[in-house]
Amino acid sequence: MRATLIYGAGDIRVENVPDPKIHRPTDAVVRVLRSCICGSDLWPYGSREATEHGDRIGHEFLGIVEELGSDVSGLKRGDLVVAPFVWSDNTCDFCAEGLQTSCRHGGFWASDDVDGGQGEAVRVPQAQGTLVKLPVAEDSALLPSLLTLSDVFCTGHHCAVTAGVGPRTTVTVVGDGAVGLCAVLAAKRLGAERIILMGRHKVRTDLGRDFGATDVVAERGEEGIERVRELTGGDGTHTVLECVGTLPALRMSVGAVRAGGTISRVGAPQYDEVPLGFPEFANNLTLTGGMAPARAYIEELLPDVLEGRIEPGRVFDRTVDMDGVPDGYRAMADREALKVLVKP
Ligand SMILES: [Zn+2]
Repeated sequence: MRATLIYGAGDIRVENVPDPKIHRPTDAVVRVLRSCICGSDLWPYGSREATEHGDRIGHEFLGIVEELGSDVSGLKRGDLVVAPFVWSDNTCDFCAEGLQTSCRHGGFWASDDVDGGQGEAVRVPQAQGTLVKLPVAEDSALLPSLLTLSDVFCTGHHCAVTAGVGPRTTVTVVGDGAVGLCAVLAAKRLGAERIILMGRHKVRTDLGRDFGATDVVAERGEEGIERVRELTGGDGTHTVLECVGTLPALRMSVGAVRAGGTISRVGAPQYDEVPLGFPEFANNLTLTGGMAPARAYIEELLPDVLEGRIEPGRVFDRTVDMDGVPDGYRAMADREALKVLVKP
C-alpha cells in the first residue's frame, strides 16, 4: 500500500510500504477513506532534521474495518469507523477518567511499528477501545465533519471545556487556524454568546463568524490585547482559548484574560517556560488545557454532526489524493490552504 513519510523539513514523500496485518488479537486493519493534514504536522515539516529513512506521519483518519483480531468485539468487517489521534484501550483507570491520552496501554500513530494515518490503510492497536463506529455510508457528505472528531473539533471542544466555557462566560479565541475555528464552534455550542476571535486572515475569520464569533480582532501583541480590552469594558474575557502554541500567542492570552479568568491552551507548545509571574498570580489566573483526549468526546459530539447542527468539516478547504499530499503540506505551510483533506 502507499503511505506518507517525512524525511526531514519540507521533505514529504508518498511511498510503497508493507500492507498492514493483524499483529495482536486486539488489532484491527482499517482501509482509510479520509485522512487529513494537521497543523501540528507542520511543526516537523518546518524543522525536522533530515534522515535517510523516512518516518510515517498522520494521526487523523476514518475508514472501513477490513480485518479484526480475535479479541476485538463490538465491531465487524465493513463497519465505518473514526479513530481518535491517540489509540487507547478505553478501559484502564485513566481512560475511565476520560483521559485516554494517558492510557496505560495506548500510544500514538506513526510511532514505533504503528502506522500513520496518511496512508491507504492502518493497523489499529487496541481497536475495540480506539475505534468508534459511525452510522453513515462510504459516500456520506458528512465524512469531512466526522473526520474532525479524530482531532481538530475534539481539540477545540477540549479547549472550551477545560476553560469552563458556558452561557455566562465571555470568550477570546487566539488563532484562526482549524483548531481556533473549531474552538469558536465549540464555545458557541456550549452556549457562549460573546466570542472574540483573534486572527488576521479574512477568509478564515469569516468562517469563524459563521461558526459563532461575534467580534474579530486582527491586531496582534499589545495592540491585540488592547483591542480585546476595549471590547470588554477594559476587563478582558472570562476565558481565553489559546489555539496556536507559540509564546507570543500565550502572552496575548495572558493579556486578554479577565481577573479570575482561565486560559486554556491546546496548541502544541513550542516553548518551555510559561510567563506567569506575580501580576497573573495577583489576578488569580488559571492556566489549563493540554492534549485533547478526543476519544472521551466523540460519542457526545457525534449526534450534533450527524443531525447537521454543526458542520466542523467546513475547515477543509482543499482535497488531495495520495499523490497530492506533499503539495498539501506545502499549501498549508504557505497558508494557502486552511486544512487539507486526503482522499487516498
Ligand atoms: Zn486506557
